[in-house]
Amino acid sequence: MKFSIKLVLSTMIVLALALGFSGFYFVNNVFETSLDREVGQALDESSILSFAFETAALNVPLKYSVLPDSVVEEIASRLEMGGRSGGRLLRIADEEKNVLYTSSGFTADEGLLPQTDQHNKAYRVIRAQDNYYVHTCVSINALNRILYLETMKDVTEVFTERALGFSLYRKVTVVILLIGTVIMLVIASLLTKPIRLLTKATRQMAAGDYAYRAKQISRDELGQLTGDFNRMANALEENICKLEEEIEAREEFMGAFAHELKTPLTAIIGYADMLRSHKLDEEKSILSANYIYTEGKRLEAMSFRLLDIIVAKQGEAKLRETPVGELFSYLQEMFAEKKEADIRFAHEEAVVRMEANLIKTVMVNLIDNACKASETDAGTDGAGSGMAGVIEVTGQRVDGGYLLAVRDYGIGIPEAEQSKIVKAFYMVDKSRARSKNGAGLGLALCAEILRIHHSELRIESKVGEGSCFSFLLP
Ligand code: ADP
Repeated sequence: MKFSIKLVLSTMIVLALALGFSGFYFVNNVFETSLDREVGQALDESSILSFAFETAALNVPLKYSVLPDSVVEEIASRLEMGGRSGGRLLRIADEEKNVLYTSSGFTADEGLLPQTDQHNKAYRVIRAQDNYYVHTCVSINALNRILYLETMKDVTEVFTERALGFSLYRKVTVVILLIGTVIMLVIASLLTKPIRLLTKATRQMAAGDYAYRAKQISRDELGQLTGDFNRMANALEENICKLEEEIEAREEFMGAFAHELKTPLTAIIGYADMLRSHKLDEEKSILSANYIYTEGKRLEAMSFRLLDIIVAKQGEAKLRETPVGELFSYLQEMFAEKKEADIRFAHEEAVVRMEANLIKTVMVNLIDNACKASETDAGTDGAGSGMAGVIEVTGQRVDGGYLLAVRDYGIGIPEAEQSKIVKAFYMVDKSRARSKNGAGLGLALCAEILRIHHSELRIESKVGEGSCFSFLLP
């Protein structure tokens, strides 16, 4: 059953019970008040009648010392006539509670007589032939006799009014419930609208539309739930996008990896086949063996780089306070032999938290790349500025950390390629990169190492003018 229908039904049940009980209480209260009033009047009337009887008895001739039964009947019939249109209904009984006089139509049994004595009145409400009466009984003290006067007062109207009251209340209740149901349906529909919108959003998202969001139309708990749901959906969408990107990157990686494997393997297999199937002269044999060796070396280097990347991806670096001077000394020593490039080192002294060996790898890669980009066959414009072949390796304190940078005045990188070169196996100019033993893995390794140092590679470059690769160690 729908939640809105449950809401309407439960409200209607509560309303029906409330109306039923309040209606019953109200009508019954009015009825009891009217009945009490009628009983009061009946008792007053019976007191007046007993007084009238006693007064009439005073006029009995003196010859009687005790009120005779005949006079009782006479007075009773006179009192009976004094009533309204239909006359009064009364019954007189003597001391022994034997009936002396009964009005025609007085149908009540003698049940009240035993409960009445000289000092006590009694009454009850009785039903006789579809009518209701207040039956009273009082004592009369007249001329040395104690008599009992019973009266019957018709109170059918009070009961009829109660029945009418109940019937009217039932009708009013039904009308109120019908109107209430319509109003509650509208209210329930408005109240449950956020739930419907949320349900729609969950279905859309389950069907793959991760960008769909539920509209927030209220500020209550349901509105908050919608807000929280949307925030959860945002986080989910973000994670799904990341996962999709990761899967895409992995697929790209696998494709590039297969391709990079294929190239040296094809060369190795080709030359090896040539060596085993043809009798080559010495020069060609050496050439073929040389190709096999260099391509094999390239494969070896690639597999080491890949291993490094995998280790860096999984690992958490053990960062240690390291003086930057140590890093620069190592680099200077390492590139001292490289005469083709003019590598200039400059750094501000500082102690930086890093995994020195990993940062050395990054710097060596960047300087290597800068050297390759600055080689004379690169066709650089940097020569125009007198800086061709110069590579500046700098370290300086800046806001938020220590900035390490490698600047070259080499070929530069087209803007569209700059964001791609950190991807594994990506090379701007494949044949040039391969000819320099590159496999497009150096920067991918650098990016991984910097990731575990909570840093990232910044690239500024202009084609023909050179590039600057830098990163900040916090
Ligand atoms: P590789 O092993 O080919 O050097 P890298 O990941 O280190 O792989 O670099 C990826 C590609 O980025 C290189 O092939 C090269 O095309 C480009 N690149 C890297 N550094 C520079 C640079 N300083 N100047 C111009 N191009 C560069």
